Amino acid sequence: MSKRVGITGAAGRMGRNLVQAVTEHPQAGLAAALDRSDNPFIGQDAGELAGSGRLGVTLADDVDAALQGLDVLIDFTAPEATVRHAGLCAQAGLPLVVGTTGMDASGRDALNDAATTVPVVFAANYSAGVTLALRLIADAARALGDDYDVEIIEAHHRHKVDAPSGTALRMGEVVAESLGRDLARDAVYGREGQTGVRDSRTIGFETIRAGDIVGEHTVMFAGIGERIEITHRASSRMTFARGALRAALWALDQSPGLYDMEDVLGLKRPG
Ligand code: NAD
Repeated sequence: MSKRVGITGAAGRMGRNLVQAVTEHPQAGLAAALDRSDNPFIGQDAGELAGSGRLGVTLADDVDAALQGLDVLIDFTAPEATVRHAGLCAQAGLPLVVGTTGMDASGRDALNDAATTVPVVFAANYSAGVTLALRLIADAARALGDDYDVEIIEAHHRHKVDAPSGTALRMGEVVAESLGRDLARDAVYGREGQTGVRDSRTIGFETIRAGDIVGEHTVMFAGIGERIEITHRASSRMTFARGALRAALWALDQSPGLYDMEDVLGLKRPG
């Protein structure tokens, strides 16, 4: 039977791609499309909004009421909204997939709380390519060690509101974990003026915001006489949408807990 998927943030850039991904999937059906009450598209058909044709599902704002008729919720909104939705899903016993980035420590605590009651998948990037790139980055950092300087460069469209991207920060965490460093202490965000020579422990972040770039990330390992770069370029948001839907269908069979895309793709190494 087709699984009843709800989407919060359904009128947004990712939300519309998610609606399309759900409509294209043989085992999923769109059961609710939700957004904030002041969104100008409330009341419109969510399929028409997403360019998928009429679906008979109206963009609505009452998340609480809609959860009753769902098997799983996919949330790509904003941190405060995600925290609220996580609480509602925990109350309703509904698995949740979160794509929202820019969550602070209290936001992540809210996801951890919800994960004691329901399965919660949280990934800064739902593409299979980035999930694999994270694995390659961990291997590269371990193999190259402290002799190579690590810099992370990311580029996104002009509408993105958080920086560096959640994916870039995750890449930084993976490098830090692999090299026994602490990202909170060792990260350097952009450089300007008299910076002094580079401290070898630092992990540098450079951010570009321009035009309609969907999402590009490079982790550079620069040594003396050579440089290795691991780059991922997303050319369509559908890669994130299909990955998030895959996570949602996977979450239906899981016990309560906090999972990421490596769990979904079965890439987790033991230990
Ligand atoms: P967007 O601004 O186009 O869409 C966000 C939508 O959420 C809007 O329609 C907005 O009205 C809605 N929203 C905001 N507050 C709400 C609330 N309180 N209740 C209901 N709806 C609310 O943004 P976007 O580009 O679609 O990105 C959304 C989030 O997803 C961002 O945090 C972005 O960084 C993240 N993102 C994650 C991935 C991933 O793979 N994890 C990929 C792309 C984007």
